[in-house]
Amino acid sequence: MNNFDDLRRTLPTGLWIDGEQTAAVDGGVFAVQDPATGAHIADVADARVKDAVRALDSAERVQEEWAATAPRQRSTILRAAWERVIDRTEDFALLMTMEMGKALAESRGEVAYGAEFLRWFSEEAVRIQGRYTTSPSGNGRILVTKVPVGPTLAVTPWNFPLAMGTRKIGPALAAGCTIIVKPAEDTPLTMLLLAEVFAEAGLPPGVLSVLPASDAVAVTEPLLADPRLRKVTFTGSTRVGKILIGASAENVLRTSMELGGNAPFVVFDDADVDAAVDGAMAAKMRNGGEACTAANRLIVANSVREEFTSKLTARISALTLGPGTDAETDIGPLVNEKQRRNVATLVDDAVAAGARVRTGGHSVDGPGYFFEPTVLDNVPANSLITTQEIFGPVAAITGFDTEAEGIAAANATEYGLAAYIYTQSVDRAFRVADKIDSGMVGVNRGVISDVAAPFGGMKQSGLGSEGGTEGIEEYLETKYIGFA
Ligand code: ADP
Repeated sequence: MNNFDDLRRTLPTGLWIDGEQTAAVDGGVFAVQDPATGAHIADVADARVKDAVRALDSAERVQEEWAATAPRQRSTILRAAWERVIDRTEDFALLMTMEMGKALAESRGEVAYGAEFLRWFSEEAVRIQGRYTTSPSGNGRILVTKVPVGPTLAVTPWNFPLAMGTRKIGPALAAGCTIIVKPAEDTPLTMLLLAEVFAEAGLPPGVLSVLPASDAVAVTEPLLADPRLRKVTFTGSTRVGKILIGASAENVLRTSMELGGNAPFVVFDDADVDAAVDGAMAAKMRNGGEACTAANRLIVANSVREEFTSKLTARISALTLGPGTDAETDIGPLVNEKQRRNVATLVDDAVAAGARVRTGGHSVDGPGYFFEPTVLDNVPANSLITTQEIFGPVAAITGFDTEAEGIAAANATEYGLAAYIYTQSVDRAFRVADKIDSGMVGVNRGVISDVAAPFGGMKQSGLGSEGGTEGIEEYLETKYIGFA
């Protein structure tokens, strides 16, 4: 049982423009469903071009004023929003579980993590630094300041409906930028509730807009082509990231891109195998595997591979699959049928190529988009599952012998977001971490996301960082003023 019916009656479902809910220009709506049942849970206003332009009009109208607010005032608003989100943890958690599917415990974890970006950037808002120095020649003084980039478009994915928004909204507001968020069509409700919370926290109208849309291109294209927009920040697939980078060229927009991953999880022969299994459970099964940092390839030294695989199989086959709202559920459904079909295709391809199913391997019949928690061993190096993001509860294991082979296997991808290594040797940990081409490396830990650390990828995994002291820089321009 859950009390979603009570919550539903109070949820904002209109577009959020200029500090209030509003219908789409043509009155259009689109449906949001519960992935555990396929049931319709809400109709949400469906933004069109004119709505997008309206949102940018309001962002542009207040940009100068917002940029000129006292940093302490921006900080106070962010802090108040953090408090309100935390106060409403149960509402946000239930809402995310209903529209995205993850288990309630995971949703509660995301509320804490997602809200933390608001608190962190409330603290960063008052620490934007500049520089003052004398020219080496002695003929002039150099003043360096930071100014907000300006109106920003954020396009976010469905896998972390709150945190992927706050990671962009937090630093944008702290820096003095206005921001328009286009949430994923599967999970628009969480961002709309956040917009309402921000209004209660005192955010002036126009600074934040939220534009749910069934046609992402129709809404984002005109904004990207409008010279008033100055930045686009995106989290999602590399395919769409490339489209947005291309579209950004016309007006030379600042871009921040958090794109796809293909994280290696490398277990060396000197690893603590039990710790590695614990880490793999987190790195693989967190969020049902629907995370860009999820361990996509478990690359395990052959001398410990069977021990690791059998222990991991025991843990994964004991997971409870079910609706995220059930207290005993460990793994919820996948977000939609397309995602489930994709996971099934990758598993079938790997099995056809010679992978061995140790547990799971199939979609579950009945309502909802469930896929069995799965372990595959002997996965051939060139199968689709090792080259594409799985985004599901499937652990794909391959073996290696020497350290050099392990590193080469880890780097054999055009992605470079997260990587995990397990070893008890400090020398090896530093040596290998140095050689792995990814923006984030976890050593003997399966979860590395941290609000105080820069989250970002190398290679085709993206551009720029979110969080940490680096995150706010993405929303600031550097300006030099020369004095005689
Ligand atoms: P996923 O494959 O995880 O759904 P996508 O990259 O397709 O990730 O989607 C992430 C976000 O990008 C969503 O908000 C989606 O609506 C949006 N999106 C998808 N295609 C485009 C596009 N061509 N232009 C702009 N936004 C897009």
